[in-house]
Amino acid sequence: MVKIGNDVSVAVAHLRAGELVAIPTETVYGLAANALDEAAVVRIFMAKNRPQFNPLIIHVANTDQLENLGLFLPDKAKALAAHFCPGPISFVIPTSEMIPGIVTAGTPAVAVRIPNHPLTLSLLQQLDFPLAAPSANPSGYVSATTAMHVAEQLGDKLGYILDGGECRVGVESTIISFMEAEPRLLRFGGVSLEAIEAIIGKIALPEEGYVDNPISPGMLAKHYATKHKMLWGNPQEILSANSDTASEKIASITFKESLDLIPATNQFILSPSGSLEEAASRLFGAMRMADSMNIELIIAESFPEEGLGRAINDRLKRASTI
Ligand code: AMP
Ligand code: MG
Repeated sequence: MVKIGNDVSVAVAHLRAGELVAIPTETVYGLAANALDEAAVVRIFMAKNRPQFNPLIIHVANTDQLENLGLFLPDKAKALAAHFCPGPISFVIPTSEMIPGIVTAGTPAVAVRIPNHPLTLSLLQQLDFPLAAPSANPSGYVSATTAMHVAEQLGDKLGYILDGGECRVGVESTIISFMEAEPRLLRFGGVSLEAIEAIIGKIALPEEGYVDNPISPGMLAKHYATKHKMLWGNPQEILSANSDTASEKIASITFKESLDLIPATNQFILSPSGSLEEAASRLFGAMRMADSMNIELIIAESFPEEGLGRAINDRLKRASTI
């Protein structure tokens, strides 16, 4: 059995030895290794069965650590960092010769982030290298928001799971690229588009058709997927189109309200009080629970396209069979 605990010094020792450690962040659990040690980074790709063309986000404790790596934030990224870091936002910026090509998938860009979790910040402060850390789940599956989720799927591939409790935000970081003349959003996430635009003004959105030729394979059309078939949209319409599936064989994920036709035990109502933040924090846990049930179909509601609703819809859409 993999060791699970909240001892930062144990995590430090494993990481210094080139091993993998699962780390808690405010977004989802990360599968971390020394970003400057190619052999350690290769272990991340193997453990997740992640294609090597999918680059990794580098985690640091503060912006000084970035500069020590030869990485510099452009002015607008600095303005965002002043407001949101540490926090659920990643910046794609020009890489430096210190960063191994395997981290950036050979591209001239690297994604960096300062996670907001006390255990992981303390861990990063004690290390003299940054951590490369994608989400701690098998490639293509739903991300992990508890140490238990990580242990269930990746336990035998890790040195240690640093248990920092349940992830507060629950969806991945917002990714913004600074590789073009104007900043471009690459992935909706824990910091809303509205909050970003309030600081730096309008930014470009992911290009139409982008998923077919991704710069950023987190953008691949099929991702975050459950094993059971999942449909996303208007629940009533999906139910009528699937009236031949017995209601006990359906689980539902909705925002505020329950669905009349589905048994109560099969329903995941993410925020009865109507908070998109609460809904986001419960999303992946609900998807995993629904996936573990003896059902045939998961129905997920389309959320309001505002605030964290955009990140929720993005994950549900890519988990679903459209
Ligand atoms: P994950 O940590 O599993 O959510 O995946 C990290 C995601 O960050 C990748 O799938 C990409 O979408 C994005 N990313 C990381 N590095 C880069 C990069 N150099 N250029 C563009 N996107 C990146
Ligand atoms: Mg991921």
